[in-house]
Amino acid sequence: MTTTRFAPSPTGYIHVGNLRTALMNYLIARKAGGTFILRIDDTDPERSKEEYVDAIKQDLEWLGLHWDRVERQSERLDRYAEAADKLREMGRFYEAFETPTELDLKRKKQLNMGKPPVYDRAALKLSDAEKDALRAERGNGVWRFKLDHERIEWNDGILGDISIDAASVSDPVLIRGDGQVLYTIASVVDDTEMGVTDVVRGSDHVTNTATQIQIIEALGGTCPRFAHHSLLTGPQGEALSKRLGTLALRDLREQGVQPMALLSLMARLGSSDPVELRSDMSELIDGFDINRFGAAPTKFDVQDLFPLTAKHLQSLPLADVTDAVADAGVPAELAEPFWAMARENITTLSDLKGWWDLCREGAEPLIADEDREFIAEAVALLPEGPFDAETWGTWTKAVKEATGRKGKGLFMPLRKALTGMERGPEMATLLPLLQVIRARG
Ligand code: GLU
Repeated sequence: MTTTRFAPSPTGYIHVGNLRTALMNYLIARKAGGTFILRIDDTDPERSKEEYVDAIKQDLEWLGLHWDRVERQSERLDRYAEAADKLREMGRFYEAFETPTELDLKRKKQLNMGKPPVYDRAALKLSDAEKDALRAERGNGVWRFKLDHERIEWNDGILGDISIDAASVSDPVLIRGDGQVLYTIASVVDDTEMGVTDVVRGSDHVTNTATQIQIIEALGGTCPRFAHHSLLTGPQGEALSKRLGTLALRDLREQGVQPMALLSLMARLGSSDPVELRSDMSELIDGFDINRFGAAPTKFDVQDLFPLTAKHLQSLPLADVTDAVADAGVPAELAEPFWAMARENITTLSDLKGWWDLCREGAEPLIADEDREFIAEAVALLPEGPFDAETWGTWTKAVKEATGRKGKGLFMPLRKALTGMERGPEMATLLPLLQVIRARG
């Protein structure tokens, strides 16, 4: 059975880049009728925070990305210790004592000599006595996984055939000197034991994948299918990594971005399918195919979310926005005609308030000098209330007959006088709202 997971580290709020990963894994699982696991990668006790775990769940729930179960790495430390023991017994695990400064120096030397900065495995040559001495001097060493120096190959769901020479990669550290288990081994143990069949993650993980494939094989597990999506860039192709902090899902929510707008964009951006607003998750699931995504960096422009949000809002019945309409101050008995008028004229729900203020208080009229007389005449012809959908038609017909004006010369000054704007809602739908408000005092 298809099983995928989204595996955030709870060290911050999740952003659009994380969403791309979450969504792809979610869609694969749902399309196959499989399982979607939310895995909290919290093996780092200093940086992991409970408040971020809660925030991640809230953000996923807001988007409707429901998970089938939650797993926490901090509760599975014994499993990772067992795997580490197994690797030790197999002779694939070795202790190394270099300090960060020593490693840095080695890397610099290698680079100076035009060699790739790969860990030189000096620790493999240490005798037991030398190790004891180093341990006494520096404390416990780190534990590195000894890669087999052969080519590591896989068929990537997005990148195609990949082949990496293991000799060009440093033996990965899986356990730190203080005993903290690192993500690389924890992830392998989890993916294997939880039967994960498909792993989609960012292309910054490609080298991890290569080493993880060897660790999975050493532990006797089955490799999942891997796919690495390209990294997001800004609209001009500029690196987005530094700005991702400002693209947290909660900030977008705060700015009024609607979940379907965000999902519609992120589920297709960077693929050969067009980005179109979808009406619900099932449409996104049906049309999703990981193989249609390209390896090139994907441009993301936060501004694209707003037209999609506006379009989504236009499609909604009042029932879906009752709270927002009420929050804007609109009384329940006017909610229906108000929403019919406003939904065509908003980008986000926070614009509702402005339209309601206009209905309630009226606008500062915009009247050109040459229209003053005309407006005075028109106002005199305004019928008695209450106004309805016909009022605008009857009134403007009367004004036309009395003044001889027609077309734009007739309608535009009236619109500007009533709304203070040159563009906006259908006047026929707006007028009854203005009237009711006035009649209500
Ligand atoms: N916690 C890892 C990360 O956030 C998970 C990577 C993976 O999908 O394996 O990068």
